[in-house]
Amino acid sequence: MRKDLVVVGGGPCGCFLAERVARKGFEVLLVEEHAQIGKPVSCAGVVGVAGMRELGLRAEKFALNKLRRGLIFSPSGEVLELDRGRTEALVLDRSAFDRHLAERASEAGAEVELGTRCVEVKGRRNPVVGLAGKREGEVRTRTLAGADGPTSTVARRSGMMGRRRFIRCVQVEVRAEAEADTAEVYLGSSSVGLFGWLVPAGDVVRVGTGTLKGDPGRGLRSLLRLLSPRVRGEPGKLSFGLIPYDPPKRLVGGSVLLVGDAACQVKPLTGGGIYLGLSCALRASEALSLSLERGDPSLLKLYPREVERSFGREFAVGRRVRKLLLALSDEELDALVKCLAEPRLREEILRKADFDHHLTLLDPFFHNLPRLLTSLGPRALTRMALKGMIGPDLREV
Ligand SMILES: Cc1cc2nc3c(=O)[nH]c(=O)nc-3n(C[C@H](O)[C@H](O)[C@H](O)COP(=O)(O)OP(=O)(O)OC[C@H]3O[C@@H](n4cnc5c(N)ncnc54)[C@H](O)[C@@H]3O)c2cc1C
Repeated sequence: MRKDLVVVGGGPCGCFLAERVARKGFEVLLVEEHAQIGKPVSCAGVVGVAGMRELGLRAEKFALNKLRRGLIFSPSGEVLELDRGRTEALVLDRSAFDRHLAERASEAGAEVELGTRCVEVKGRRNPVVGLAGKREGEVRTRTLAGADGPTSTVARRSGMMGRRRFIRCVQVEVRAEAEADTAEVYLGSSSVGLFGWLVPAGDVVRVGTGTLKGDPGRGLRSLLRLLSPRVRGEPGKLSFGLIPYDPPKRLVGGSVLLVGDAACQVKPLTGGGIYLGLSCALRASEALSLSLERGDPSLLKLYPREVERSFGREFAVGRRVRKLLLALSDEELDALVKCLAEPRLREEILRKADFDHHLTLLDPFFHNLPRLLTSLGPRALTRMALKGMIGPDLREV
């Protein structure tokens, strides 16, 4: 029997998408390779309050902590403190949150098949999906959504995967002295890698690092050493995870689309993908429902158009600024954080910053670009100019 939609991947984006299309009365099958939804988890679980509200999700029910304050540490310990005196973000029990989204998909009428892996995709128009595990064989479907994370089988098998680089992450939970309402971010290419974090999560804190090159475990050891005076007890089991770095070649091909991490829908500066992935899944569900209603696969093109309209600039500018930050040495990161922490600039950041939309956060960055670049020193400027990273068009990506 032919399905209207097969969703591969029972993470937040796949479940949310399946729910929304099933609610419209379409036949939806969601397959998840693991035996349980929400396990294993590799996520710090931080989401913005406003973003979850915008998506109509009552994420507070799954919150282990409420975050009001952020501390960003430079390699030598310069600190930028961001606090607007109100709760900005929540730290989620990710397993419970994912399970809730899967239950909503089931209640809406989607068939959720666990322990079942997508191993093959044949054709992009009226695709046939090959399954292995608890459910074996082929399923014909009018449309197919790859919500199967950073290494997406659907993207690979349907020829939509582009260049593949990842931020490799590792995280542990450990008991440590920490403020319950404060998330900490650590910068320093020679120590933590790309970045490190400490996030309070109930009785423990989540400590993790991510890096584009090499072993993320090296960064984690270095961060745990730095935090050792505050650590109380042995770290728990290591959890590894990938954050996608490069977008796919396209979001839609024939009747197949990609969403969430499979589509690299993450914040370029932090790798956070829950809000952006869910927001894009919402847009995908609208295009899918319309296309299924009208029997016209070409309507799926509305999805990339809507994603571009809502987040295109956010992704493009964010990726450009990320490239710029990646080119900085530890000393230059020190100078940058010191400059951002100056009262006038910090006030501007606090006035404009939005947890879920980093373009607003980048506004003060661009307003003060000459000052910020000057603070980095002539060597950094020359290096960036030679690599074509800075020029008059920086704002016009
Ligand atoms: C260490 C770490 C910390 C993070 N912290 C944060 C954070 O604090 N805040 C934030 O917003 N984001 C964070 N992220 C990113 C966030 O976890 C992802 O953006 C989010 O999980 C994406 O959801 P998704 O549904 O697209 O994919 P996933 O959550 O990856 O779900 C994909 C699902 O597909 C399944 N699957 C894969 N292949 C197949 C297949 N072939 N067949 C069947 N099933 C398959 C997988 O088992 C998985 O369940 C973090 C990521 C990492 C690695």
